[in-house]
Amino acid sequence: MGKYYQEEFETMPLEEIRKLQSEKLVEQVKHVYNNVEYYRNLMDAKGVKPEDIKGIEDLHKLPFLSKADLREAYPKGLLAVPQDEVVRIQSTSGTTGKRVIAYYTQDDIDIWEDCCARAIVAVGGSEKDVCQVCYGYGLFTGGPGLNGGSHRVGCMTLPMSSGNTERQIQFMMDLEASIICCTPSYAAYIGETLKEMGYKPEDIPLKAGIFGAEPWTEEMRHSIEETMGIKAYDIYGLTEISGPGVSFECEEQTGMHINEDHFLAETIDPETGEVLPEGSEGELVFTCLDKKAFPMLRYRTRDLCVLSREKCSCGRTFVKMKKPQGRSDDMLIIRGVNVFPSQIETVLLKEGYTPNYQIVLDRENNTDTFDVYVEYTPEEGDDVVKNITAREKKLQERMKTMLGINPKVHLAEPKSITRSEGKAVRVIDRRKLH
Ligand code: ADP
Ligand code: ZN
Repeated sequence: MGKYYQEEFETMPLEEIRKLQSEKLVEQVKHVYNNVEYYRNLMDAKGVKPEDIKGIEDLHKLPFLSKADLREAYPKGLLAVPQDEVVRIQSTSGTTGKRVIAYYTQDDIDIWEDCCARAIVAVGGSEKDVCQVCYGYGLFTGGPGLNGGSHRVGCMTLPMSSGNTERQIQFMMDLEASIICCTPSYAAYIGETLKEMGYKPEDIPLKAGIFGAEPWTEEMRHSIEETMGIKAYDIYGLTEISGPGVSFECEEQTGMHINEDHFLAETIDPETGEVLPEGSEGELVFTCLDKKAFPMLRYRTRDLCVLSREKCSCGRTFVKMKKPQGRSDDMLIIRGVNVFPSQIETVLLKEGYTPNYQIVLDRENNTDTFDVYVEYTPEEGDDVVKNITAREKKLQERMKTMLGINPKVHLAEPKSITRSEGKAVRVIDRRKLH
């Protein structure tokens, strides 16, 4: 295996990418218009016909699809092929509401697995590697996607699924796993367990990790890299568009290359829907160029990020997206101030704490209460108990500087915050219950 999995596409000159995208888009719009009544109605309502779409320059004429449309069309309203051609479904984790069901033809699965294979090769993976997949298997796309990618690359694949951390570690050690794939929060938990079991980074056979499915910070990356002695790479995706591998990080680690031969990306102003120029932060919108069973056109992800076409040293020409800080609906509004959980993670790791934290919001006398629970480590035990108030106050001040509002920080005993084996639950918002 060379440096790329599909060099012809991954390093395609921009002009050719645009041409390929235009050709695919024209066909895809016809396919959707002819086969999906729901989207045909949206196009008709906007007065757009398939003939109006002659290339990617006409993309802005198409209507958006949102999660609300997916809910309305549930379960089969957006299926674009006869059901006989569907070989699999997957479903979202339902982090923010009702699950979405996505359908795949065999070709759709092939495209998706190729994208995951590109991500594995980009971290140095080849048939010589042992790839441990500890994303959940089943309806969640993480396990099946990277499992398929790992097969394609020819790695010896360990289909571990998530959970049973001691068994994960046993297989990792006994079979000398070299690449691990899971959520960053589960990676942190595996790292913590390895440390407790007395393993030093140099005892751990892993060389790289492919972590995604949830937002994570640079500080978290460094902490995982240090504990496990690996290089940690980001991977992004969503069920609606296929699953993990919509974009992936290369060795330069300055953003994730979007697999543009399959997925066309735009950023828009989330308020007005206006398309933004490259380089400004906006809501990411994807159009599937060749997936047939569940082809989203202009799907609004609610993920906020920046696109960049700066030349990358890895030789790939695909546009890069900056790490999404979170979704527009992950953003908390506390006493009128916008807060992302990732900002709290940054402060904690900078101050030498672990990434085990939980935010609890409630409402008292019409005012939001904002509590952050943070674990100290067992080694710090005595010092924390003696200086607990001073330490809490210091963290509180650091967070106030970062966020602009004051949380109440509580240092909690080691292991008191539930560990995540999939996507971490960082926020308990009781305000919504009132
Ligand atoms: P759900 O919407 O139920 O969580 P998915 O499992 O399909 O369903 O999750 C997709 C979402 O996960 C993305 O829209 C994005 O918000 C988040 N996500 C995936 N990968 C990353 C990543 N590398 N960084 C930040 N967020 C990510
Ligand atoms: Zn690159």
